[in-house]
Amino acid sequence: MALEIIVKPAVRKLAMERMQILIQNAISNARIDPELSQRQALLARRISTRHKIRMPYELRMNFCKKCKSFIAPGVNSRIRLGRASVKSIRISCYLCGHTYRKIISQ
Ligand SMILES: [Zn+2]
Repeated sequence: MALEIIVKPAVRKLAMERMQILIQNAISNARIDPELSQRQALLARRISTRHKIRMPYELRMNFCKKCKSFIAPGVNSRIRLGRASVKSIRISCYLCGHTYRKIISQ
């Protein structure tokens, strides 16, 4: 148990870094190589499940909440800022048409 406490954070940190790199690559490849981009996103998701690491919001927002597809901002999703007094962003998935809102707390 004690050993696990020492080992785990390093492994998790590494997995988290890999996940971030994969998503970044997936976003930059979304336009030029959509297939590769989907594969990289899938890999990032697998890392998250295998290591039981919850993806940080900035990574999770690249996945549609409904169809679970990887959606690159500006490529297969549209991100718009809400005009209401409460600051929010609206993300629309081009693949299934689902729109969801995220309220940005200040
Ligand atoms: Zn979708």
